[in-house]
Amino acid sequence: MPEKMTAGRTEKSSLAKPEKLAAVKGMNDILPPDSARWEWLEDKVRSLMGRYAYRNIRTPILEHTQLFVRGIGEVTDIVEKEMYSFEDRSDKHGDYDHLTMRPENTASLVRAVIEHNLLYDGGKRLFYMGPMFRRERPQRGRYRQFHQIGAEALGFAGPEVDAELILLAAALWKELGLSDWRLEINSLGQPDERALHRAQLIAHFEQHADALDEEAKRRLHSNPLRILDTKNPAMKSVVESAPRLIDFLGPQSLAHFEGLKAILDANSIPWTLNPRLVRGLDYYNLTVFEFVTDRLGAQGTICAGGRYDYLIEQIGGKAAPAVGWALGVERVLELIKEQGAEIALPVPDAYAVIPDASAVPVVLQTLQALRAAGVSVQMHAGANAEGMGSMKSQFKRADGSGAKFALIFGEAELAQGSVAVKPLRGEKAEAAQVQTLQPLGDVAAWASMLRA
Ligand code: ATP
Ligand code: MG
Repeated sequence: MPEKMTAGRTEKSSLAKPEKLAAVKGMNDILPPDSARWEWLEDKVRSLMGRYAYRNIRTPILEHTQLFVRGIGEVTDIVEKEMYSFEDRSDKHGDYDHLTMRPENTASLVRAVIEHNLLYDGGKRLFYMGPMFRRERPQRGRYRQFHQIGAEALGFAGPEVDAELILLAAALWKELGLSDWRLEINSLGQPDERALHRAQLIAHFEQHADALDEEAKRRLHSNPLRILDTKNPAMKSVVESAPRLIDFLGPQSLAHFEGLKAILDANSIPWTLNPRLVRGLDYYNLTVFEFVTDRLGAQGTICAGGRYDYLIEQIGGKAAPAVGWALGVERVLELIKEQGAEIALPVPDAYAVIPDASAVPVVLQTLQALRAAGVSVQMHAGANAEGMGSMKSQFKRADGSGAKFALIFGEAELAQGSVAVKPLRGEKAEAAQVQTLQPLGDVAAWASMLRA
């Protein structure tokens, strides 16, 4: 006896049931209908980036580990403990390449900009979207595979570009229906200004050594600025009483900061100064900022950015200024759920009811033409030995699909070269008047009615 086929699978009763496989911890499937919300967000971003003349860049997910060590910094959460790294047998005999799945995209982007000499004819504005990987403790708003959208402007030194990037983000929140955010800004000055602050910062923390946690003690001399970024509530007061970097800035750094603030004010973008907002590495300078919300619990930062005028040189390129931000897609979508506009989930315009399987070849010609004319049509499927299924069950599916119209390809209609179009929803359906006959051969004449 032949094996029984079920939906394309072969069933062998003698086989033991295989163990179920689940996704890797902290890594999520994004399924319909939820995936429509992702597409909606991505479409908004693409359109907005175009209006600000930012162009899309796509870099590989795998890079040499060294890129992130240099581009993010050795004394950071990411490089110390969060990277997915492995050894890949290289093409060269006996050698291994140390590779890492990108934990963020700025280092890769800068690598690509240098490698392809993108700044040869002036500054570049770029944006990216995609998955990033960090081995963190999974929780709400914190995953091991998560997604970022980022915008970066390279080759521009002035505060007008910092402002442009912030205005771009604010415009995005507006288009997404988000108002429950605040913008925190700070200036990190320049390396020489930070050196003065650093000495006093270390002295302050040494005076309060008993208030420091293990991580802070470890970073006291390697990266004291990062201590200000601690998530440990027990260190709140020692961090709040620490000397403020902003008080160590010289006139040029202050002028840059004032320039940014003036543009934000003129554009009615509210901001607050957060003197503890930092990036711990030497190639970050001047402007840093975060968009924060109170609606998402502990993971309240939806977008973070700043200037990194020394990074391009650090990665081996010709020195050039740069500034950018990255937003966390999962967090932004969560915030939209909390307070954003309702997002309409996609439904087909029409559902094709096919009473008799022998009509399928002809029916599909019409469906192809309708789709080419921009109509979204879901075909009834599920033929078996008994045919396409009863009219009752087909209409049930049509209803469930959310389509506004049923296209009924009955024998009588097809014999006249036409199809019956029956409204399923809305006023037209209620008036119950109207099932119309439309010509199969001239789809253009009635396609627009379905799209309406
Ligand atoms: P956090 O302080 O929350 O760990 P971070 O400083 O590590 O954030 P960035 O590297 O600046 O974050 O990344 C920019 C944005 O990406 C964050 O503001 C956040 O919205 C998002 N993000 C970062 N890590 C994760 C993660 N593990 N899961 C989900 N989103 C994340
Ligand atoms: Mg982090």
